[in-house]
Amino acid sequence: MTTRKKLARSFAELALPSVVLFVNASAVLPALRDPSPQRTQDRRVLGAPDPAEPPQGKPAPKLLARPAGALSRREVDEAGMRSLIEQLVACGTRHSLSSWTDPKRGAGCGRDRIVAHLNEIAKNSGGKLQVVVDKFEATGERTNNKPAHMENVYGVLPGSDPKLAKTVFIVSGHFDSITSDLMNPNLDAAGADDDASGVAVSMECARLLSRMGPGAVGGRATLLFAAVSGEEQRLYGAERMLQWVKEQGYTVGGMLDNDIVGADFAPGVPHRVRLFSGAGEQDDADSPSRELARAIEEIDSREAIRLIFSLDRLGRGGDHEPFYRAGLPAVRFTEPLEDYRHQHQTPRMENGVEYGDRMKYLNLRFAGNVARANAEALRQLVLAPAVPATVKLGGGVTPDAKITWGAEEDPERAGFEILWRETTEPRWQVFQFVTSARETALKGVSTDNHFFAVRSVGKNGARSMAVAASAPRALPF
Ligand SMILES: [Zn+2]
Repeated sequence: MTTRKKLARSFAELALPSVVLFVNASAVLPALRDPSPQRTQDRRVLGAPDPAEPPQGKPAPKLLARPAGALSRREVDEAGMRSLIEQLVACGTRHSLSSWTDPKRGAGCGRDRIVAHLNEIAKNSGGKLQVVVDKFEATGERTNNKPAHMENVYGVLPGSDPKLAKTVFIVSGHFDSITSDLMNPNLDAAGADDDASGVAVSMECARLLSRMGPGAVGGRATLLFAAVSGEEQRLYGAERMLQWVKEQGYTVGGMLDNDIVGADFAPGVPHRVRLFSGAGEQDDADSPSRELARAIEEIDSREAIRLIFSLDRLGRGGDHEPFYRAGLPAVRFTEPLEDYRHQHQTPRMENGVEYGDRMKYLNLRFAGNVARANAEALRQLVLAPAVPATVKLGGGVTPDAKITWGAEEDPERAGFEILWRETTEPRWQVFQFVTSARETALKGVSTDNHFFAVRSVGKNGARSMAVAASAPRALPF
């Protein structure tokens, strides 16, 4: 039986209009059509394989298993996340221009709930988690061009390694909320999804990663679990947090912004969470943010993460942006499909449609998945050695690509993975494993047909983010 007949029969078996479907199928699946002599000839000319690279076959790199003790989904406290979101919603509004002193209504009520939640977590951390309330002022159009009082809440879990503890990995959500009437701090603004859900994810990461006893993580780098304000005014809280971590002398290892991560209403749940990352501005090398996104996907799997190679959704911004603009690795998690009737809306009924960002639209099972994905990514990133420094690509106009990089002494590091990918491929593959930082020549590998990167690998199997190998693209003399 020919392929064409087989296909027609399989459609007939489905009792579907086979003719119509066959026309469609042949349009999208040209490979299923009988090859014409002309086509076979074309394939010989056009589809010939590329030259083997490297010609002698690729090295077989030693691949260490990733660190044991992966967080399981069962460990996520969905009920605790729900309870925190409910408490935040019960503050009526958390508009940044609302009251910071009223314990029952306003931004100060939200802050108090988060501080209380973090203090509970700190109790179970053996005193390691430090709770910080960071007060600041911000001025702009959405503060009526007057200085407005705002506050961020941080839980800081210091790393165990003296050098790596100066690197901080941040997970953040914003606790302020807003309605359609942007400047009005008096209207109810539940902000269940935008963004009590992100705050709940950040706080659940704090609980999972700071607990003592069985399952204790013991990160080498420092973790910061943040709930910031002023997002809806113009990312003021995130800007302030960036300034604060610099003031404390930290280097930002990575920033995971969770904003609108509580709902998953499309049929076929659960869906993957979207992970946005900006491209950066360097020719032929992706930004650190893109590398952070790739690292998270590799840790959490393609079943959990949907990579979106874009800074953010069209016309929208988020707290990862100030970090991204500063050239730091920063990404944004957002639910798979948004319902704009439930964001930034004054609660109301209009033509039989309900507007407002209410608890009842959330899906905590999905938000729990997001918490698990964040926490496991952070767990592995804080167990990893430092990223390699100044990764360079050389060897242009020679047969062998040459990769050079530097690294500080680290007795816990097993070595480095040299990564490569086709220039059109989204993901890295390991090309080679080497034990020390040096110039490494990739024999018979052109500088021109792939992109390259290097990452550090701990003896525990934890990988750092990849650092793309950059190369100056000066015009030849
Ligand atoms: Zn938001």
